[in-house]
Amino acid sequence: MPPNDSAETMGGVDVGVGVGACVARPARHASSIEGRLNAETASGIKAWVFDLDNTLYPHHCNLFEQIDRRMGGFIADKLRLPPDDARSLQKGLLRDYATTLQGLTSRYGIDAHEFLSFVHDIDYACVPANPQLAGLLADLPGRKIVFTNATTRHAERVLDRLQVPRECFDHFLDIAAMEFRPKPHRACYDALLTHCRVANPREVVMFDDLPSNLKTAHELGIATVLIDTPSRYGRFVGDERYIDAVAENVESFLEGALGFS
Ligand SMILES: [Mg+2]
Repeated sequence: MPPNDSAETMGGVDVGVGVGACVARPARHASSIEGRLNAETASGIKAWVFDLDNTLYPHHCNLFEQIDRRMGGFIADKLRLPPDDARSLQKGLLRDYATTLQGLTSRYGIDAHEFLSFVHDIDYACVPANPQLAGLLADLPGRKIVFTNATTRHAERVLDRLQVPRECFDHFLDIAAMEFRPKPHRACYDALLTHCRVANPREVVMFDDLPSNLKTAHELGIATVLIDTPSRYGRFVGDERYIDAVAENVESFLEGALGFS
């Protein structure tokens, strides 16, 4: 996509960086995370922000493939189109409106809630339980927020499969709460900081698998950790200074770099 649809931001390709248990990027600038967030300074972090798709569960689950198919089916049914025409329209809306959702609501008056509910009616069996993540999140001090371009219901279903209690999180900031303006729209981050309840954005860390979502966060002073996936839309474009650290997954970063256990 470039795009930022809940579903459409899940895909991916080679980001072209090394993947280790936890790979801190070389310090390229003064705000490098090595100086801002380590085992000693992590206690100063007051809010932890987590993207959902491909960040809290492995990219290989490929939930997007199912959601993408559901989008096509929804369009075919609602607009009474043959599957191939529906598919073409889906991709055209994505191109013209940045998200399929935006295109459907703007051009066809489709109800956003109905669309989101339909496309997230998928099989979550591929999402594995992750007791290590559950334990780390439960013990992590400070506010914890899920910040997703998908719906809270989708997030809850994923967390149920991960066996991470929903109560691990203080707040779910989803696409509906963001008035259907997805990350990386600036307004989303203003809302996020309100929910973080911090005086200083530098007391916040955000994890996401899409560099574009972290760029806006970084501009606001939030420390950024890229979850490194073979994401088609996660390719670095050259200016990577807004990526403070790279990790294979959330738990490896919390345990490896920050020393939580
Ligand atoms: Mg994601």
